[in-house]
Amino acid sequence: GPLPRNRKRTVSAVLSGSLPAASDSRLSVVWTYAAPGGGAKMTQVTAVSADIVLHNAFVVTMDGALTVLRDGAIAVVGDRIAAVGPSADVLGAFPGAAQTLNLAGRILLPGFVNTHVHTSQQLARGIADDVDLMTWLHGRIWPYESHMTEEDSYASTLLCGIELIRSGVTCFAEAGGQYVSEMARAVELLGLRACLTKSTMDCGDGLPPNWSSCSTDDCIQSQKDLYEKHHNTADGRIRIWFGLRQIMNATDRLLLETRDAAQELNTGIHMHIAEIPYENQLVMRMKKIDHGTVTYLEKIDFLRNNLLAAHSVWLNESEISHFSNAGVKVSHCPASAMRMLGFAPIREMLDSGVCVSLGTDGAPSNNRMSIGGSDCRESI
Ligand SMILES: [Zn+2]
Repeated sequence: GPLPRNRKRTVSAVLSGSLPAASDSRLSVVWTYAAPGGGAKMTQVTAVSADIVLHNAFVVTMDGALTVLRDGAIAVVGDRIAAVGPSADVLGAFPGAAQTLNLAGRILLPGFVNTHVHTSQQLARGIADDVDLMTWLHGRIWPYESHMTEEDSYASTLLCGIELIRSGVTCFAEAGGQYVSEMARAVELLGLRACLTKSTMDCGDGLPPNWSSCSTDDCIQSQKDLYEKHHNTADGRIRIWFGLRQIMNATDRLLLETRDAAQELNTGIHMHIAEIPYENQLVMRMKKIDHGTVTYLEKIDFLRNNLLAAHSVWLNESEISHFSNAGVKVSHCPASAMRMLGFAPIREMLDSGVCVSLGTDGAPSNNRMSIGGSDCRESI
Protein backbone atom coordinates (compact mmCIF):
# COMPACT_ATOMS: atom_id res chain seq x y z
CA GLY A 1 0.00 0.00 0.00
CA PRO A 2 0.99 3.67 -0.13
CA LEU A 3 3.46 4.92 2.42
CA PRO A 4 2.02 6.70 5.42
CA ARG A 5 2.23 10.45 5.00
CA ASN A 6 3.81 12.97 7.33
CA ARG A 7 5.48 10.33 9.40
CA LYS A 8 8.76 11.20 10.99
CA ARG A 9 11.29 8.67 11.97
CA THR A 10 14.80 8.81 13.29
CA VAL A 11 17.33 6.13 12.63
CA SER A 12 20.57 6.48 14.46
CA ALA A 13 23.53 4.26 14.87
CA VAL A 14 26.60 4.68 16.99
CA LEU A 15 29.61 3.92 14.87
CA SER A 16 32.85 2.44 16.01
CA GLY A 17 35.78 4.85 15.85
CA SER A 18 37.85 2.22 14.09
CA LEU A 19 35.75 2.26 10.93
CA PRO A 20 37.66 3.39 7.86
CA ALA A 21 36.53 6.64 6.29
CA ALA A 22 34.12 7.40 9.09
CA SER A 23 34.15 11.15 9.37
CA ASP A 24 31.65 11.26 12.23
CA SER A 25 31.38 9.19 15.36
CA ARG A 26 27.60 9.45 15.07
CA LEU A 27 25.22 9.12 12.19
CA SER A 28 21.76 10.55 12.19
CA VAL A 29 19.22 10.20 9.44
CA VAL A 30 15.81 11.81 9.65
CA TRP A 31 13.10 11.15 7.07
CA THR A 32 9.78 12.73 6.52
CA TYR A 33 7.11 10.84 4.62
CA ALA A 34 5.79 13.98 2.98
CA ALA A 35 7.46 14.01 -0.40
CA PRO A 36 5.43 14.79 -3.53
CA GLY A 37 3.45 11.71 -4.48
CA GLY A 38 3.47 10.41 -0.93
CA GLY A 39 6.92 8.81 -1.11
CA ALA A 40 9.32 8.89 1.78
CA LYS A 41 11.93 11.61 1.65
CA MET A 42 15.15 11.80 3.56
CA THR A 43 15.35 15.40 4.66
CA GLN A 44 18.48 15.61 6.74
CA VAL A 45 21.52 13.45 6.58
CA THR A 46 24.87 13.51 8.25
CA ALA A 47 26.40 10.72 6.27
CA VAL A 48 29.48 8.60 6.55
CA SER A 49 30.79 6.10 4.08
CA ALA A 50 28.71 2.91 3.95
CA ASP A 51 30.24 -0.53 3.57
CA ILE A 52 27.34 -1.73 1.47
CA VAL A 53 24.12 -0.31 0.08
CA LEU A 54 21.43 -2.81 -0.97
CA HIS A 55 18.89 -1.11 -3.23
CA ASN A 56 15.96 -1.74 -5.56
CA ALA A 57 14.49 -4.13 -3.00
CA PHE A 58 11.01 -4.84 -1.67
CA VAL A 59 11.81 -3.76 1.90
CA VAL A 60 9.56 -5.11 4.65
CA THR A 61 10.54 -2.94 7.62
CA MET A 62 8.38 -4.55 10.36
CA ASP A 63 8.21 -1.14 12.02
CA GLY A 64 5.19 -0.16 14.08
CA ALA A 65 3.17 0.75 10.98
CA LEU A 66 4.38 -2.31 9.03
CA THR A 67 5.82 0.00 6.38
CA VAL A 68 6.75 -1.63 3.09
CA LEU A 69 9.06 0.15 0.64
CA ARG A 70 8.52 -1.09 -2.90
CA ASP A 71 11.77 0.35 -4.22
CA GLY A 72 13.70 0.51 -0.99
CA ALA A 73 17.28 0.34 0.15
CA ILE A 74 19.37 -0.12 3.25
CA ALA A 75 22.85 1.15 4.00
CA VAL A 76 25.13 -0.88 6.24
CA VAL A 77 28.03 0.65 8.15
CA GLY A 78 30.16 -1.81 10.08
CA ASP A 79 27.77 -4.22 11.77
CA ARG A 80 24.84 -1.78 11.87
CA ILE A 81 22.03 -0.82 9.51
CA ALA A 82 22.66 2.90 9.17
CA ALA A 83 19.66 3.82 7.04
CA VAL A 84 16.50 2.39 5.53
CA GLY A 85 14.52 4.30 2.93
CA PRO A 86 13.60 4.74 -0.71
CA SER A 87 16.44 3.64 -2.99
CA ALA A 88 17.03 7.07 -4.50
CA ASP A 89 17.39 8.68 -1.09
CA VAL A 90 19.69 6.07 0.40
CA LEU A 91 21.88 5.92 -2.71
CA GLY A 92 22.01 9.71 -2.70
CA ALA A 93 23.00 9.80 0.95
CA PHE A 94 25.76 7.21 0.59
CA PRO A 95 27.39 7.96 -2.76
CA GLY A 96 30.76 6.53 -1.80
CA ALA A 97 29.59 3.12 -0.58
CA ALA A 98 32.29 0.48 -0.85
CA GLN A 99 29.77 -1.88 -2.45
CA THR A 100 26.42 -1.24 -4.07
CA LEU A 101 24.14 -4.15 -4.85
CA ASN A 102 20.99 -3.99 -6.99
CA LEU A 103 18.57 -6.57 -5.56
CA ALA A 104 16.26 -6.34 -8.60
CA GLY A 105 13.05 -6.41 -6.59
CA ARG A 106 13.98 -9.18 -4.17
CA ILE A 107 12.43 -9.11 -0.70
CA LEU A 108 14.58 -7.63 2.07
CA LEU A 109 13.33 -8.12 5.62
CA PRO A 110 14.63 -8.35 9.20
CA GLY A 111 16.15 -11.65 10.30
CA PHE A 112 13.81 -14.31 11.67
CA VAL A 113 13.89 -15.38 15.31
CA ASN A 114 13.65 -19.15 15.75
CA THR A 115 12.47 -19.73 19.32
CA HIS A 116 13.09 -23.46 19.75
CA VAL A 117 16.30 -25.00 18.42
CA HIS A 118 18.33 -28.01 19.59
CA THR A 119 21.77 -27.26 18.16
CA SER A 120 23.18 -30.50 19.56
CA GLN A 121 20.63 -32.59 17.62
CA GLN A 122 21.81 -31.41 14.21
CA LEU A 123 23.86 -34.58 13.64
CA ALA A 124 20.86 -36.77 14.53
CA ARG A 125 18.70 -36.00 11.52
CA GLY A 126 16.78 -39.08 10.48
CA ILE A 127 17.58 -41.26 13.52
CA ALA A 128 14.11 -41.02 15.03
CA ASP A 129 11.56 -40.90 12.24
CA ASP A 130 8.08 -42.38 12.67
CA VAL A 131 8.17 -43.17 16.40
CA ASP A 132 6.13 -41.83 19.33
CA LEU A 133 7.64 -39.16 21.58
CA MET A 134 8.77 -41.37 24.47
CA THR A 135 10.55 -43.80 22.09
CA TRP A 136 11.96 -40.80 20.25
CA LEU A 137 13.33 -39.40 23.52
CA HIS A 138 14.37 -42.43 25.58
CA GLY A 139 15.30 -44.84 22.78
CA ARG A 140 16.88 -42.54 20.21
CA ILE A 141 17.68 -38.96 21.25
CA TRP A 142 18.97 -39.37 24.80
CA PRO A 143 21.37 -42.21 23.89
CA TYR A 144 22.64 -40.02 21.03
CA GLU A 145 22.93 -36.80 23.06
CA SER A 146 24.52 -38.49 26.07
CA HIS A 147 27.33 -39.89 23.90
CA MET A 148 28.25 -36.56 22.36
CA THR A 149 31.65 -35.04 23.02
CA GLU A 150 32.35 -31.34 23.34
CA GLU A 151 33.82 -31.31 19.85
CA ASP A 152 30.65 -33.01 18.49
CA SER A 153 28.59 -30.26 20.08
CA TYR A 154 30.74 -27.57 18.47
CA ALA A 155 30.43 -29.15 15.01
CA SER A 156 26.72 -29.77 15.48
CA THR A 157 26.10 -26.13 16.45
CA LEU A 158 28.11 -24.87 13.48
CA LEU A 159 26.12 -27.01 11.04
CA CYS A 160 22.84 -26.08 12.67
CA GLY A 161 23.74 -22.39 12.56
CA ILE A 162 24.63 -22.54 8.87
CA GLU A 163 21.23 -24.05 8.11
CA LEU A 164 19.49 -21.45 10.26
CA ILE A 165 21.27 -18.61 8.47
CA ARG A 166 20.34 -20.13 5.12
CA SER A 167 16.65 -19.82 5.99
CA GLY A 168 17.01 -16.22 7.17
CA VAL A 169 17.34 -16.75 10.92
CA THR A 170 19.59 -14.29 12.75
CA CYS A 171 18.58 -15.11 16.34
CA PHE A 172 17.54 -18.31 18.08
CA ALA A 173 16.64 -19.73 21.47
CA GLU A 174 18.46 -22.94 22.31
CA ALA A 175 16.22 -25.54 23.94
CA GLY A 176 19.05 -26.99 26.00
CA GLY A 177 22.09 -29.16 25.44
CA GLN A 178 25.06 -30.37 27.44
CA TYR A 179 28.01 -28.31 26.22
CA VAL A 180 26.99 -24.68 26.31
CA SER A 181 30.57 -23.39 26.08
CA GLU A 182 30.96 -25.20 22.75
CA MET A 183 27.66 -23.78 21.53
CA ALA A 184 28.89 -20.32 22.49
CA ARG A 185 32.17 -20.85 20.63
CA ALA A 186 30.24 -21.78 17.48
CA VAL A 187 27.69 -18.96 17.81
CA GLU A 188 30.47 -16.42 18.18
CA LEU A 189 31.96 -17.60 14.88
CA LEU A 190 28.58 -17.83 13.12
CA GLY A 191 27.65 -14.21 13.88
CA LEU A 192 24.19 -15.19 15.11
CA ARG A 193 22.46 -13.97 18.25
CA ALA A 194 21.37 -16.70 20.65
CA CYS A 195 19.86 -17.42 24.05
CA LEU A 196 21.83 -20.52 25.04
CA THR A 197 20.74 -22.96 27.74
CA LYS A 198 21.97 -26.10 29.39
CA SER A 199 19.47 -28.93 29.54
CA THR A 200 19.00 -29.91 33.18
CA MET A 201 17.37 -32.98 34.70
CA ASP A 202 17.61 -34.10 38.32
CA CYS A 203 15.16 -37.03 38.39
CA GLY A 204 12.98 -39.31 36.29
CA ASP A 205 12.96 -42.60 34.41
CA GLY A 206 14.93 -43.53 31.35
CA LEU A 207 17.90 -41.21 31.85
CA PRO A 208 21.20 -42.42 30.39
CA PRO A 209 23.57 -43.55 33.19
CA ASN A 210 25.97 -40.64 32.78
CA TRP A 211 23.13 -38.14 33.19
CA SER A 212 21.38 -39.59 36.20
CA SER A 213 23.96 -38.38 38.70
CA CYS A 214 23.33 -34.65 38.34
CA SER A 215 22.14 -33.27 41.67
CA THR A 216 19.76 -30.35 41.96
CA ASP A 217 22.55 -28.17 43.33
CA ASP A 218 24.84 -29.13 40.42
CA CYS A 219 22.11 -28.29 37.92
CA ILE A 220 21.66 -24.80 39.35
CA GLN A 221 25.31 -24.04 40.03
CA SER A 222 26.56 -25.15 36.61
CA GLN A 223 24.09 -22.78 34.96
CA LYS A 224 25.13 -19.89 37.19
CA ASP A 225 28.73 -20.61 36.17
CA LEU A 226 27.75 -20.58 32.49
CA TYR A 227 25.93 -17.29 32.99
CA GLU A 228 29.02 -15.82 34.61
CA LYS A 229 31.24 -17.02 31.78
CA HIS A 230 29.17 -16.39 28.65
CA HIS A 231 26.26 -14.02 29.29
CA ASN A 232 26.50 -10.92 27.10
CA THR A 233 29.65 -12.14 25.34
CA ALA A 234 30.30 -11.95 21.57
CA ASP A 235 29.46 -8.22 21.54
CA GLY A 236 26.28 -8.94 23.48
CA ARG A 237 25.01 -11.49 20.96
CA ILE A 238 25.05 -14.39 23.43
CA ARG A 239 22.68 -14.58 26.39
CA ILE A 240 22.58 -17.42 28.87
CA TRP A 241 19.17 -18.64 29.96
CA PHE A 242 18.22 -21.39 32.39
CA GLY A 243 16.99 -24.67 30.97
CA LEU A 244 14.61 -27.34 32.24
CA ARG A 245 14.13 -30.35 30.00
CA GLN A 246 10.60 -31.17 31.09
CA ILE A 247 8.52 -31.72 34.21
CA MET A 248 9.03 -35.50 34.20
CA ASN A 249 12.75 -34.87 34.81
CA ALA A 250 12.58 -32.02 37.30
CA THR A 251 12.01 -32.06 41.05
CA ASP A 252 9.99 -29.25 42.59
CA ARG A 253 13.18 -27.94 44.11
CA LEU A 254 14.86 -27.72 40.70
CA LEU A 255 11.81 -25.94 39.26
CA LEU A 256 11.59 -23.37 42.03
CA GLU A 257 15.30 -22.74 42.38
CA THR A 258 15.50 -22.28 38.62
CA ARG A 259 12.66 -19.77 38.84
CA ASP A 260 14.47 -17.84 41.58
CA ALA A 261 17.93 -17.98 40.01
CA ALA A 262 16.64 -16.75 36.64
CA GLN A 263 14.74 -13.95 38.32
CA GLU A 264 17.77 -12.93 40.33
CA LEU A 265 19.95 -12.80 37.20
CA ASN A 266 17.18 -11.18 35.15
CA THR A 267 17.32 -13.82 32.44
CA GLY A 268 14.97 -16.34 30.82
CA ILE A 269 13.95 -19.98 31.30
CA HIS A 270 13.35 -22.40 28.43
CA MET A 271 11.32 -25.56 29.14
CA HIS A 272 9.29 -28.15 27.21
CA ILE A 273 5.76 -27.97 28.63
CA ALA A 274 2.64 -30.08 28.02
CA GLU A 275 3.96 -31.83 24.94
CA ILE A 276 1.86 -35.00 24.96
CA PRO A 277 -1.22 -36.35 26.78
CA TYR A 278 0.99 -38.92 28.58
CA GLU A 279 2.89 -36.07 30.27
CA ASN A 280 -0.33 -34.52 31.57
CA GLN A 281 -1.66 -37.90 32.73
CA LEU A 282 1.55 -38.64 34.62
CA VAL A 283 1.50 -35.23 36.31
CA MET A 284 -2.17 -35.67 37.27
CA ARG A 285 -1.43 -39.05 38.83
CA MET A 286 1.81 -38.10 40.59
CA LYS A 287 0.82 -34.65 41.78
CA LYS A 288 -2.86 -35.33 42.48
CA ILE A 289 -4.22 -32.47 40.42
CA ASP A 290 -7.15 -32.29 38.03
CA HIS A 291 -5.27 -31.41 34.84
CA GLY A 292 -1.75 -31.41 33.47
CA THR A 293 1.64 -29.74 33.72
CA VAL A 294 0.49 -26.14 33.47
CA THR A 295 -2.07 -26.59 36.26
CA TYR A 296 0.69 -27.95 38.46
CA LEU A 297 3.21 -25.26 37.54
CA GLU A 298 0.64 -22.62 38.37
CA LYS A 299 -0.13 -24.32 41.68
CA ILE A 300 3.51 -24.18 42.80
CA ASP A 301 3.83 -20.56 41.58
CA PHE A 302 6.42 -21.39 38.94
CA LEU A 303 4.96 -19.41 36.02
CA ARG A 304 6.62 -16.07 35.28
CA ASN A 305 6.93 -13.75 32.29
CA ASN A 306 10.54 -14.82 31.66
CA LEU A 307 9.41 -18.38 30.86
CA LEU A 308 9.51 -19.61 27.25
CA ALA A 309 7.29 -22.70 27.09
CA ALA A 310 8.08 -24.98 24.16
CA HIS A 311 5.21 -26.72 22.36
CA SER A 312 2.46 -26.39 25.00
CA VAL A 313 0.09 -28.47 22.93
CA TRP A 314 -2.12 -29.93 25.66
CA LEU A 315 -3.56 -26.98 27.56
CA ASN A 316 -7.16 -26.51 28.60
CA GLU A 317 -8.92 -23.16 28.84
CA SER A 318 -7.91 -22.36 32.41
CA GLU A 319 -4.31 -23.31 31.68
CA ILE A 320 -4.25 -20.87 28.76
CA SER A 321 -5.45 -18.23 31.25
CA HIS A 322 -2.62 -19.14 33.62
CA PHE A 323 -0.12 -18.53 30.80
CA SER A 324 -1.81 -15.30 29.86
CA ASN A 325 -1.99 -13.99 33.42
CA ALA A 326 1.65 -14.80 34.13
CA GLY A 327 2.92 -13.51 30.77
CA VAL A 328 4.42 -16.87 29.75
CA LYS A 329 5.60 -17.01 26.11
CA VAL A 330 5.03 -20.02 23.86
CA SER A 331 7.24 -21.46 21.14
CA HIS A 332 5.06 -23.31 18.67
CA CYS A 333 6.87 -25.81 16.45
CA PRO A 334 4.49 -26.87 13.66
CA ALA A 335 6.71 -29.68 12.36
CA SER A 336 6.97 -31.43 15.75
CA ALA A 337 3.27 -30.86 16.32
CA MET A 338 2.37 -32.61 13.10
CA ARG A 339 4.91 -35.41 13.45
CA MET A 340 4.45 -36.36 17.09
CA LEU A 341 2.64 -34.04 19.45
CA GLY A 342 -0.72 -32.89 18.13
CA PHE A 343 -2.18 -29.47 17.41
CA ALA A 344 -1.76 -26.71 19.97
CA PRO A 345 -4.65 -24.32 20.70
CA ILE A 346 -2.83 -21.45 18.98
CA ARG A 347 -5.93 -19.43 18.11
CA GLU A 348 -7.16 -19.65 21.71
CA MET A 349 -3.75 -18.65 23.09
CA LEU A 350 -3.52 -15.64 20.78
CA ASP A 351 -7.07 -14.61 21.68
CA SER A 352 -6.07 -14.73 25.37
CA GLY A 353 -3.10 -12.48 24.72
CA VAL A 354 -0.40 -15.16 24.99
CA CYS A 355 2.70 -14.32 22.94
CA VAL A 356 3.18 -17.23 20.50
CA SER A 357 6.29 -17.51 18.33
CA LEU A 358 7.56 -20.10 15.86
CA GLY A 359 10.35 -22.63 16.21
CA THR A 360 11.74 -25.45 14.13
CA ASP A 361 12.74 -27.73 17.05
CA GLY A 362 15.78 -29.94 16.39
CA ALA A 363 16.71 -31.69 13.16
CA PRO A 364 15.25 -35.10 14.18
CA SER A 365 11.88 -33.48 14.93
CA ASN A 366 11.70 -31.78 11.61
CA ASN A 367 14.37 -33.03 9.22
CA ARG A 368 15.05 -29.47 8.22
CA MET A 369 15.76 -26.26 10.10
CA SER A 370 13.90 -23.85 7.86
CA ILE A 371 11.80 -21.35 9.78
CA GLY A 372 10.18 -20.43 6.46
CA GLY A 373 9.09 -24.05 6.18
CA SER A 374 7.59 -23.78 9.66
CA ASP A 375 5.61 -20.74 8.60
CA CYS A 376 4.24 -22.67 5.65
CA ARG A 377 3.30 -25.68 7.75
CA GLU A 378 1.59 -23.43 10.29
CA SER A 379 -0.47 -21.75 7.59
CA ILE A 380 -1.56 -25.19 6.33
ZN1 LIG B 1 12.59 -29.43 22.00
